[in-house]
Amino acid sequence: MTRLANSKRHVLIVGGGIGGLTAALACAKAGHSVSLFERAREFAEVGAGLQIPPNAMKVLRALGAAGRVSRDAVRPSALQMRDGRTGRFVFDVPLGAASERRWGAPYLHIHRADYIGALRDLVAEEPDVSVHLDRAVMGLASSAGQATLRLADGTQVTGDVIIGADGLHSVVRDWMHGGDEPRFTGNMAWRATVLVSVLEEHAPEAAACVWTGPMRHAVTYRLRGGTLANLVGVVEVGRLARKGPESWTEAGDKADALADFGGWHPTVTRILESVPDGALYRWPLYDRKPLPFWSQGRVTLLGDAAHPMLPFMAQGAAMATEDAWVLAQALSGEGDVPDALQAYEAKRRKRTARVQKASRANSRTFHRVSGFSQLATYGPMWLAGKVSPALVRSRFDWLYGHSVVDR
Ligand code: FAD
Repeated sequence: MTRLANSKRHVLIVGGGIGGLTAALACAKAGHSVSLFERAREFAEVGAGLQIPPNAMKVLRALGAAGRVSRDAVRPSALQMRDGRTGRFVFDVPLGAASERRWGAPYLHIHRADYIGALRDLVAEEPDVSVHLDRAVMGLASSAGQATLRLADGTQVTGDVIIGADGLHSVVRDWMHGGDEPRFTGNMAWRATVLVSVLEEHAPEAAACVWTGPMRHAVTYRLRGGTLANLVGVVEVGRLARKGPESWTEAGDKADALADFGGWHPTVTRILESVPDGALYRWPLYDRKPLPFWSQGRVTLLGDAAHPMLPFMAQGAAMATEDAWVLAQALSGEGDVPDALQAYEAKRRKRTARVQKASRANSRTFHRVSGFSQLATYGPMWLAGKVSPALVRSRFDWLYGHSVVDR
């Protein structure tokens, strides 16, 4: 990693999610001092899983974080697509060691709380990072010489640069672009985790599996040494449907979830049937169009604040992780802070917009309605998976093979 002592900056980070914590780590490793402000009283994440693809693992490795993060994670054996009702395989390509060979890093599944915990511990080991919990940022300013944050208690904090890693409803983004609402995509997500021991023979394999069906899909995989099954079930309800409150912890009704996935493969339905009361969550999915710009003066955005996306490529947190590395490197150059931020944005804009668009396009691939369109889409995929699994894997090269640390 480039580490330039004579361009040491004081970096102010708004938000302590995966993006903000990784940015704190990357900036500290690059030799900058960091003050991070998180509005929550403690670092916390919901009881759900997250896929860490190889492109993000390369950044974690370069930051010396891969060992700590991997400790509680699972390495899936394969990447699968199956029909949600019949269970028929569309493709089943090996991952495991093949991911390392083809894309240069492993593919991991991790519990979100374990991931945040690992990043929090690694950040705590950095002497030049100060973390301020229960500190909501209410406003900001950028002048020629400095950047200033205004906290909820009226305190002002100055530094060289502000990174807005404050998620979908970012105040930093609002300051830059005005306060419009993110777009409800018309998709609702069910989320559940269940002990594998409860599911018995219907427990999902240790693979990342997308189950497809008309206007819906589900993703299953395992967490925590393979002991916990994770399910995300997405249903298209239409943009005008009643979304309900936007909260990661909004409990959903099991009967509604089972109706959404009625007649589906037992791997999917058994998780929904077995989820303990109050532990099934329902979550409306939002995204935004790519922003025209996301850096202004000494202020920039990162992660969901800059480019929120549908989770259909499992890349939102991975993009935040790549952002963090590129931004820390840009700030370590000799130029001014505003130039460094422009350079960071220029390096990230095209790739993140491509992933945003591809994530949206995946809803069409996963949610085919008619038998004909299913056959036309999945038939060639099935054939390619049988004849040449390498061909199926090569479709992911642009995404997983990408390495921001080698550039
Ligand atoms: P956030 O996680 O939203 O963090 C923002 C932080 O800022 C929060 O801690 C918040 O409290 C804080 N904050 C907000 N406002 C303020 C303020 N004013 N002052 C101080 N602090 C503030 N991505 C993947 O890579 N792989 C996956 O498998 C995957 N699966 C997903 C499944 C689902 C169902 C969903 C919805 C998303 C998924 N994603 C996945 C996307 C991923 O969760 C997000 O992209 C990622 O968490 C964004 O991280 P972030 O740090 O940018 O934002």
